[in-house]
This record gives sequence, structure tokens and C-alpha cells, in this order.
Amino acid sequence: MQIVDLTWSSEEQAFRDEARTWLEANVPNPAYPSGDTKEGFALHLEWEKKLFESRWAAVSWPTEYGGRGASLWEWLIFEEEYYRVGAPQRVTQNGIFLLAPTIFEFGTQKQQDYYLPRMAAGIDLWAQGWSEPNAGSDLAGLASKAVRDDEAGGWRLYGQKTWTTRGAFCNYLFGLFRTDPESERHKGLTYLLVPLDIEGVTVRGFGRLDGDEGFAEVFFDGAFVPDGDLDPVNGGVLGEVGNGWGVAMATTGSERGLTLRSPGRFTAAAARLVQLYRERGGASEDPGIRDAVISAWIDAEAYALYTLSDVTGMVDGNSPGARSSLNKIFWSELDVRLHEASLRLLGGEAELEEWGPAGEQVENQWLKGYQFSLSGPIYAGTNEIQRNIVAERVLGLPRK
Ligand SMILES: Cc1cc2nc3c(=O)[nH]c(=O)nc-3n(C[C@H](O)[C@H](O)[C@H](O)COP(=O)(O)OP(=O)(O)OC[C@H]3O[C@@H](n4cnc5c(N)ncnc54)[C@H](O)[C@@H]3O)c2cc1C
Repeated sequence: MQIVDLTWSSEEQAFRDEARTWLEANVPNPAYPSGDTKEGFALHLEWEKKLFESRWAAVSWPTEYGGRGASLWEWLIFEEEYYRVGAPQRVTQNGIFLLAPTIFEFGTQKQQDYYLPRMAAGIDLWAQGWSEPNAGSDLAGLASKAVRDDEAGGWRLYGQKTWTTRGAFCNYLFGLFRTDPESERHKGLTYLLVPLDIEGVTVRGFGRLDGDEGFAEVFFDGAFVPDGDLDPVNGGVLGEVGNGWGVAMATTGSERGLTLRSPGRFTAAAARLVQLYRERGGASEDPGIRDAVISAWIDAEAYALYTLSDVTGMVDGNSPGARSSLNKIFWSELDVRLHEASLRLLGGEAELEEWGPAGEQVENQWLKGYQFSLSGPIYAGTNEIQRNIVAERVLGLPRK
């Protein structure tokens, strides 16, 4: 049985104090527009550079890559403080939270030394290139391919990726490509790192349902990526050729598990929801709203506590593996319930536009948050797929 110590050490408390002081002094006010718009993205990038300069961009990374060598516990603390003050969304998330853990695990020294500091500094911005028009849930059915070019010493890419978050604002993509034309499904795939500004790559941005322009389709028509880590600036292979699926599953673990959606995000949103409830005088005419608010708060706390046991296991060297699908189902459905409760509290007001102190239009955070929460059960692998994974790989149930 795992014993979880719920007290923070004096060093951890000091770390929290330092993070809190810095964040409170530096968080932009008024908040930026969405980082999934061109204008908002540029502002968010400035923020990322500020975080990097003060070594808050990737706290758990080694100091030589711009981090603080913080423990996983300290990282959790930083996340709590980050969301508590309502700091900007992390537009570098696909690099820092998804790709970087995979580079630490599978990258060569040369790749780590080249990519990681640039990622932390917000110089290189990474898009995730997995989904295709006919391969989303069934990722192993992807059709994009990398054809061997022996003479040039690398791979020529062909095909199309879609739904790449902020792809139109990024300069690199990590993606899965079929390198063995004879192979099927999970075999014969390779995890490639691809610059987006090279010949043979076309990036076409397009809008989301909520009006932000943060998605892109990426087309490959003979773009060249060199072998291995020959020349990281020009991209290359992460992990072994043909073992892309195994490498991708490491990224997936980060995306569904802890790093993309740490509990601080939800405990902070739940605290704001309770605040809204109090401001609204308790919305007494509908006791169901009070239950919804309390349930959202309890669920956020439950996720935070569950995470502590997860981190205890990780610190002991145990990877959560397929259990990260449990996290993903929980946080994504909690996010929807939490935002639904906020809309019930606000009633018709939820749909009104909001104005800042200087008369400028600002985003209606609850409505925007609700709209985005609806995509949670879809991205990072749909929740139907996560339930299949939990059934088969966590509970050991038969496929049929
Ligand atoms: C906000 C957002 C950001 C995203 N960002 C990225 C990104 O940066 N990079 C990227 O590569 N992709 C990204 N995606 C794409 C996302 O990964 C896919 O949408 C997702 O994997 C589902 O694929 P699909 O849309 O093709 O749906 P489909 O796979 O066609 O699924 C349609 C429906 O069928 C269900 N279904 C399919 N197969 C099964 C099954 N075996 N059992 C039960 N139900 C099943 C699904 O659950 C879903 O409800 C993003 C998506 C969203 C919404």
C-alpha cells in the first residue's frame, strides 16, 4: 500500500512562496486575448519569454536547459500557483509538456541539447502532427508516409495531417509517418521531427467553432528530413526508425496524464466557481445549482489527491502507463461539469459580451471555458477510446 505524506517540506513551501511572489508581480492584467488567435498568440509568446528569463518556463528541467531542476512535487506546486493567479495559457504546451518528456526519454544527447533550451525559450514552437483526415481515433491507420532517400541520407515526406493545435503559429512539427511501406498498423511507423518552413511543406490555418483560428492542416509533398540526429535544426528521427508507435505512446502518456492537465488548473477553476456562486448570493431558487458547484469542487479536489498518489508512484520510478487514460476521462468530464455549473449560475448573462476597465471587449471567460471544455472529451484521444483502453489494459477485460 502506498502512503502519501500530505505535508509540504519547508523547501517546498519556500519554492511555493517564491513562485507565488513572482507570479503575482508579473501576471498580465488585464488578461490577454486567447492564445489561439494571431494577436493573442504574439502576446502569449512574450509571456513565455518572460517565464523563461526568470526560469519558470520549465521548472522541472535541468538548469542547463533553462529549468530549475525542481522535483515533480515542486512542479505540481508551481502549477497550482500558476493557475491560482490566472496566468496565461501555455502556448508552448505541445513542446514543453508533450514532446519534451519524450525527448528526455528517447532523444539523443545532441537532440536534447539542441531542442530543449530553444523550446523552453519559446524560440521553437511545436505542433503535434498525428491526426489525419482518415485517422483520428484509429491513429494506426494513418496514411502519411516517409520514403527513404538514400542519396540524400534521410526521408521524403508525403501526406496530410490535420487538427494541429496552433499549427499555423508553429515552426516545427512532431509526427508519425509510415516508413516501412510493407508494414501495417502499429508497425513500421517512425516518429519524425519536421521543420514547417522547408520546401515541400504547406501549412494552412483554419478556424475553430469558437471563432479562434488556432488549427492548421499540414501538407507534405516531398519535404526532406535527415536521418537520426544528423542535423537537428533540419529535423530528424526521434527514437528508432520503425518504432514510432512506442515513442508516440510515451507522448500520449504525457498528454492524457499529468503534464498537460495538472490538477491546479481544475482546483483554481473550482475555486473561481465557488466565488461566482457566493457573488450570486447562492442562486437559492435552484438547489441543483448548489449541488453542481459543490460536486465540481469535490471532483477537482479528488483529482488533486489522486494525482498525489500518481506522483508518489512516478517518483518511485513507476510509469502510470494505461492508467493515464483514467486521468484523461476524469479531468475532461470534470471540466465540462464545472463549466456547465457556471453557465447555470449565470443564466442568460452567460451569453453576454464582457468589457474591460478601459472599455475594451474582453473574453467572457466562463462561456469561452465552457466551449473549450466540450473539446476535452475529444482531444488527446476521445473518451470512448480511453474507456476501451481502461477496460482492456487497466481492468483486463476481454475485447469482445
Ligand atoms: C481542440 C482539439 C485539439 C486537437 N489538437 C490536435 C493536435 O494538435 N494534433 C493532432 O494530431 N490532433 C489534434 N486533435 C485531433 C484529435 O486527436 C482527434 O479529433 C481525435 O483523436 C478523434 O479523431 P477524429 O476527430 O478523427 O474522430 P473519429 O476517430 O472519426 O471518431 C468519431 C467518433 O467515433 C468514436 N469512435 C471511433 N472509434 C471508436 C472505437 N473503436 N470505439 C468506440 N468509439 C469509437 C469516437 O470516440 C468519436 O466519438 C485535436 C482535436 C481537438 C478537438
